Amino acid sequence: MLVRYIDENKNVRVCITDTTSVGQDAYVRLQCSPIALSLITQAMTGAILLVSDLKIEGTMSFKFDGDGPIGHITVEANMNGEARGFAGNLNLDFDPSGELSWFQQALNDGRITVRRKLSSSEHLYTSTVPIIAGNLATNIAHYLNKSDQIRSAISLAAHLDVQKGIAASGGILIQALPGANDNLLFILEDRLVQLGDLASYFARPNGIQELVDILMEGTNAQLLSQDSVSYRCHCSRDRISRVLAALPQADLTDMADSGEDITMNCSFCTKPYVYSSREIRQLCLD
Ligand SMILES: [Zn+2]
Repeated sequence: MLVRYIDENKNVRVCITDTTSVGQDAYVRLQCSPIALSLITQAMTGAILLVSDLKIEGTMSFKFDGDGPIGHITVEANMNGEARGFAGNLNLDFDPSGELSWFQQALNDGRITVRRKLSSSEHLYTSTVPIIAGNLATNIAHYLNKSDQIRSAISLAAHLDVQKGIAASGGILIQALPGANDNLLFILEDRLVQLGDLASYFARPNGIQELVDILMEGTNAQLLSQDSVSYRCHCSRDRISRVLAALPQADLTDMADSGEDITMNCSFCTKPYVYSSREIRQLCLD
């Protein structure tokens, strides 16, 4: 579920999403470690919140690239609330009680690349910012403040579950509107900090409404939209073929010479795509 609200005087927009089912579906597909799942789910939540604000139909992707043990976290979300994600090391594990955030321990130094693609054109808008200290939400807020010059506050959370992977997850994005009075934004930022354990709200059936009531109290909030969210991969044989064709020519030749079928699994949903050696040879020629 994704809801967007605006205050009566049009100073701030508040987006809240419950991504529990998205994280649980990611776990079914990726079968990753708890730490990797938590980070991928929070990153997908961030992408769902940000893409909901695009004015034109499109897709948004985040790649968090670091020199830490996870390598990278890559996620994508579109205007239909569909998200997908994966990471370089899906089995990442470390002492979760460390002083640094999981995000920092997993990625360490590196950069965030954000790509926006509008459905109406082939053009990709790309921006890159360095990873800073803090957690995943701190880094998305840093990107927003740097790239869009819009005052924003974002909070992301995920609780883990032994069986389902994710017990509850979601996030909140608060953004100032052009020409906004800053006072209300300050008040809402303060309320966001006072919420306490954010994921616990998404564990309750009326959690989103509780959050709206607390955050937007006294603002005569109006609902702008309400949409569903899901884990969905739009992979196709065509796309996987393009990934294969981009491999070094020597590797493709070796695969073709082996005479055996090659199975390529989509990184986002693990769906298998099988290629015969003849098809691989054709890719070498294309
Ligand atoms: Zn896929």
